[in-house]
Amino acid sequence: MKSSDHTIDFTKKGYTKKGYTKKMRKVRCKWGICCLLLAVVMVLTLAGCSGSKSSGPKTMPSPDTDAGYPATPGPSIQDTTTAAPTEPPVSEGDGTDGNGGSGEPTATDVPHYVVVLDPGHGGNFIGAWYDEKIEKNLTLQVANYIKEYLLENYDGIEIYFTRDTDVALNGDIKIDLEQRAEVAKQYNADYFVSLHFNASEAHELHGATVYASFRDNVAEKSQGIAASILEQLVALGIKDNAVKTRKSQDYYAEDGSRLDYYAVIRHSAARDIPGVIVEHCFMDNEIDKQFMNTDEKVKQLAIADAEGIAKYLGLPKK
Ligand SMILES: [Zn+2]
Repeated sequence: MKSSDHTIDFTKKGYTKKGYTKKMRKVRCKWGICCLLLAVVMVLTLAGCSGSKSSGPKTMPSPDTDAGYPATPGPSIQDTTTAAPTEPPVSEGDGTDGNGGSGEPTATDVPHYVVVLDPGHGGNFIGAWYDEKIEKNLTLQVANYIKEYLLENYDGIEIYFTRDTDVALNGDIKIDLEQRAEVAKQYNADYFVSLHFNASEAHELHGATVYASFRDNVAEKSQGIAASILEQLVALGIKDNAVKTRKSQDYYAEDGSRLDYYAVIRHSAARDIPGVIVEHCFMDNEIDKQFMNTDEKVKQLAIADAEGIAKYLGLPKK
């Protein structure tokens, strides 16, 4: 979905100035006594607007406007949701998902989460490759399957991508990686899931690893969702290489404590978003190839990710 679709959605909600102007002219030109009606209409309309805007913390930012995203020209951020923003906003669930729960409680008490999927690499950053398989393409394929499966089978979740085409978010890899976490922040993400495939020099390693954060502010949720995803991947028959955390030797917090080694996890944690890196399997290994050598197999990996996410979040089935 292109960013211009945001404009269409906001128009539907009656945000455009055009709508107001039309209404005002009509009333003014015809009848003076309608001033009172005009006032009522204005008050009601404004009340409606502010109601929509404050209806919950999940209002989708518009990346192509002044929503606060760092100025990076080009198609770096893509809105990939298919969940129509015009749907009634769903309130926070049990308030444990880190969003503050400022929305009004509803009778249904349906959980609601925003998950940002990060198809690893993209553009000139192709990732690993082997046997004509390229990591950046596989990760995007997996992301699309995850989104499709979750939206088809579960309620209570919004999915966004850091990219939905073959692009890097920035030519500088350090900025590219930080921007992936920044995209998650702009979407008020509850979780950030970065998708990858592994490879090793001697092609002898195999298995799935999910990297998580060890930082106090996000460790529990990061490691929790990591374990849930890994469990599903292992259920496919992939070797269990465990949930792992890794401390940086180069990056430290202001208090002198170490930060996470992996950039997207570190930058997510800095934004209070639990992040994980899913290394599904080794694309250059004979044993692991059986789990990813057809589109259907890749889809099974994605479904495993999706089920891991859904189970951890306790999403209701459709
Ligand atoms: Zn990778």
